[in-house]
Amino acid sequence: MKQRVVSGMRPTGKLHIGHYHGVLENWVKMQDDYDCFFFVADWHSLTTEYADTAAIMENIREMVLDWVAFGLDPAKCIVFRQSLVPHHAELNLILSMITPVSWLERCPTYKEMLDNLDAKDLSTFGFLGYPVLMAADIILYKATRVPVGHDQLPHLEITREIARRFNYLYGNVFPEPEAYLTETPKLLGLDGRKMSKSYGNSIYLSDTAEETAKKVLSMMTDPQRVRRTDPGEPDVCVAFNLHRIYLPSVKLEEIIPACRNASIGCVECKRLLTGYMNERLAFPRAKRDEFAVNSGFVDDLLRDGSCQASKVAEAVMTEARTALKI
Ligand code: SF4
Repeated sequence: MKQRVVSGMRPTGKLHIGHYHGVLENWVKMQDDYDCFFFVADWHSLTTEYADTAAIMENIREMVLDWVAFGLDPAKCIVFRQSLVPHHAELNLILSMITPVSWLERCPTYKEMLDNLDAKDLSTFGFLGYPVLMAADIILYKATRVPVGHDQLPHLEITREIARRFNYLYGNVFPEPEAYLTETPKLLGLDGRKMSKSYGNSIYLSDTAEETAKKVLSMMTDPQRVRRTDPGEPDVCVAFNLHRIYLPSVKLEEIIPACRNASIGCVECKRLLTGYMNERLAFPRAKRDEFAVNSGFVDDLLRDGSCQASKVAEAVMTEARTALKI
């Protein structure tokens, strides 16, 4: 029997290439070998975005278009929306009864996010409790593997502790999910900071070939390379972090010395990159345009997937309710 994987993304709208290489690409690989449940974490987005929900539905549609166009196949995995499966809320409530507040307060990302998002009032019950909702999302499907980066391991540990506590109190219902450690390449944006929608430095999966070319041309390079004749250093060049992803190794081996001895200019070097990027992204971008013509495409897909997810969730919740004797 295949191991079961559960993973979700908050609906942030159109995805950039950092999201793709950091998360989505792994999901696409996993769907062939695991029994995968991938969900839109729309209730999770309320933990920080509760004051402005106007864009959520649009963000969901844009994000799921990217998911499917770039390789998630609803015939191979279940793609659904968290809020269409109310069992997540039911299990969240039950788990919140048995989770000590101290476990949540010590969660390393809790204080970090409180500090980083100081423009928002996050002193809410829901924000403190988001690791409980996350635990509910995962164990509701009896997931055995969860794709995480090293920095997310503490979250998974809380999920494991909560599952263990439920099993200790009421009987063995939930497996403790194991980490599926994923390599997340640190992708830099146009300005050299981490690629992020909020910094306005992103290349989106849905950008046109022309938009991509324009953005790549504006990308920072080696700051010491002022004139065309100055030698450069790919290791400190921001654009080169994309060359490493998109160019075949034989091309990289040509560019590295050519940059160092100034026999290639940055414009030429970036044009080469753009060519490889647009070639690789062309097919999924065309798919995305095709799907986007049908305005009900994403809603229908999520409704179907949520129906399938609900069936699995209901069976697990029946076991949990029986164990709880309510
Ligand atoms: S030649 Fe290429 S690798 Fe070298 S600094 Fe310019 S863009 Fe970067």
